Amino acid sequence: MVERLREHYGIRDRRVLDVMLTLPRHLFVPEALESRAYGDHALPIAANQTISQPFIVARMTELLELEGTERVLEIGAGSGYQTAVLAKLAAQVYAIERIAELARQAQARIRSLDIHNATVKCFDGTLGWSAHAPYDRILVAAGAPEVPEPLLTQLKVGGCLVIPVGDTRESQHLVRAIRTEDNYEFEDHGACAFVPLIGHYGWSPESKG
Ligand code: SAH
Repeated sequence: MVERLREHYGIRDRRVLDVMLTLPRHLFVPEALESRAYGDHALPIAANQTISQPFIVARMTELLELEGTERVLEIGAGSGYQTAVLAKLAAQVYAIERIAELARQAQARIRSLDIHNATVKCFDGTLGWSAHAPYDRILVAAGAPEVPEPLLTQLKVGGCLVIPVGDTRESQHLVRAIRTEDNYEFEDHGACAFVPLIGHYGWSPESKG
């Protein structure tokens, strides 16, 4: 899996590759799919959600350019795999998941791996998590109609946010927003497809787009 990330997808951040080499991804997927855990694809998890494709986890993490000292906010913890990757590369991870069952399972998996610098809570992540703001980095793992305002506000100057943004619920572009002294810079990092970000500053639960 990791060789493919390096050779085929051109992931260059050595620390990201090393963490993904050692982290047991099969512990984050349903038992029946364990044999496919190291394949190059997203997989279904509970509650109709997905564990992201390894490439997209690697790419988003690489875009955050983590050095180990950062406080990171993650929206859409899902299985907790991305949360665990971030916890290995940053100082502290605050993760939010809107589905209670997934949040509980993600937190339990992370603890079982002896990772103690990541907390998973259940609520609407489009509001951010003001108690621990501002953040050096923010990663959103679900597709948004636009960048939620509270997340931009909770980002430190000099910090960055990576988020899939798209006009429909089905497809997005990976956007990196960097907060400068008095503004934000936005970069486009290519097409991607995530499950929708549902919440106050995301998609509504019913509407189709
Ligand atoms: N990186 C995760 C991806 C999970 S899929 C993994 O690899 O397992 C995206 C997740 O975002 C889903 O679990 C979904 O329930 C969650 N989500 C969607 N909208 C959300 C919101 N407003 N706040 C928190 N989580 C949200």
